[in-house]
Amino acid sequence: MRLLSFRAPDGVRPGVLRGERGDRVVDLRTADPALPEGVRGILEAGPEALEAVARAAERADSDLPLDELPLAAPVPDPRKFLAIGRNYRDHILELGNALPEFPLFFNKQVTCVNGPYDPVHYPEAVEKLDYEGELGVVIGRRCRAVPRERALDVIAGYVVVNDVTSRDWQARAATMTLGKSFDTHGPFGPWLTTADEIDDPHDLRVTTRVNGSLRQDYSTGNMVFDLFEQIAVLSTVFTLEPGDVVSAGTSSGVGAAMDPPGFLSVGDVVRVEIEGLGWLENPIVEEPPEARVGA
Ligand code: MG
Repeated sequence: MRLLSFRAPDGVRPGVLRGERGDRVVDLRTADPALPEGVRGILEAGPEALEAVARAAERADSDLPLDELPLAAPVPDPRKFLAIGRNYRDHILELGNALPEFPLFFNKQVTCVNGPYDPVHYPEAVEKLDYEGELGVVIGRRCRAVPRERALDVIAGYVVVNDVTSRDWQARAATMTLGKSFDTHGPFGPWLTTADEIDDPHDLRVTTRVNGSLRQDYSTGNMVFDLFEQIAVLSTVFTLEPGDVVSAGTSSGVGAAMDPPGFLSVGDVVRVEIEGLGWLENPIVEEPPEARVGA
């Protein structure tokens, strides 16, 4: 299944794709009012709720055209948005870093979550804006101390992530929290593809294009610490909850590593695509004044 969230006049609603071409959306609030109000709630409600979603996808009387719906991130309100740095050898080498012995996790603040086709803001305070096309995992159940051989059981599904990065802010502090967390700098989606739809998440092609020009092209098979290892390490420390997002790192081809550097500018369009999962396409815009105070 492909679960998504779309904006309606009364707020963000959960939906599921259907149709031969997957281009129709069943509005789950209408199709089954007994379902929780959002995708995170549906994940929290567990397998029975997902079965109800599957029934709604099959039986709903009406649906909506996907290309007319403004999509939000499939989980618009995750409680954690984690990511891992230096997890692909080519990217480690292009930035002149050493191969890590332990996964380098950091937080993107959840206020940076952004929709799959929404504008990414270029704030005045940033000088070096960059992209990182990545595979993301969405957690499907509350879990702790998950051994790697059971990690697949706690994965609800996969998303495309652009781990938008302000390189100048990233360089100022080892934690990376500031450089990774500007508002709007966490687009993901376009929908959550459930884990049963993907044979091998470590064999997916990721591409990133800026204004149509190919910048990144790599396989998720080249991770240093694979998804299962990441879940095992994170859940050793804290409880993972339904809707939490873990982004698996990026490979080579980021703007910072180009000569001359290929940082983003206002007016650019960044497209990140993963085979089988869809794509993000975010324009870079000046941060609008209304985003600054009382946002
Ligand atoms: Mg990254």
